[in-house]
Amino acid sequence: MKTIGVIGGMSWESSSEYYRLLNRHAKTRLGGHHNARSLLLTVDFASIEANQRAGDWQALGEQMADAARQLERGGADLVILATNTMHRVYESIEQAITVPFLHIADPTGAALRAAGVERVGLLGTRYTMEQTFYTGRLRERYGLDTLVPDDDDRADVHRIIYDELCHGNVEDASRKVYQRVIEHLAARGAQAVILGCTEITLLIKPEDSVLPVFDTTALHAQAAVEWAIGE
Ligand code: GLU
Repeated sequence: MKTIGVIGGMSWESSSEYYRLLNRHAKTRLGGHHNARSLLLTVDFASIEANQRAGDWQALGEQMADAARQLERGGADLVILATNTMHRVYESIEQAITVPFLHIADPTGAALRAAGVERVGLLGTRYTMEQTFYTGRLRERYGLDTLVPDDDDRADVHRIIYDELCHGNVEDASRKVYQRVIEHLAARGAQAVILGCTEITLLIKPEDSVLPVFDTTALHAQAAVEWAIGE
């Protein structure tokens, strides 16, 4: 099996979920005592979050490139970035390494298309919902029409990610907020919803949502394992 390199720590709450999912999926696929061969590099989220707020995507690109290089030097055969938001600078990563990089939007876009979805709601950080790096890729590569929540709902979704989920706080009241946001997206014609932030899976399970959920954390981890197994 090939070695999966994971750039994590954004936040570590979701990286630990990636770690669990990578290993669980490898065991499901290969059985016995198999798990995923992996390297996890945890960056310090404090400096990442500060650079995001400052809009310093140049510095963030350099931080991600450094992390990816370290993983390749350590023996990673494939690199994944365990956050949707930081895919804003995925090109800096691709340029820094010679091994493949698996973009988080790709397994998600492919799963949505396979399910026949054309119009999909997107929940994530402000950066993911409001900039074009994510919705643009889903449209150009997968023909998906993406709906983002309105202003007030976006503010709630973003706040709950940074103030609660990234600190490991999973609150019932916040689950209700997300459920309401998903209902609004459904009313506007969304056929499914993307959990487009790797912590949302901690809060929203399929049974909590009126729409089918496409969980980027799980889809990304599974795709990485399939690649590492190499079939
Ligand atoms: N994990 C989150 C994401 O998937 C947000 C934290 C970050 O800014 O990286 O977008």
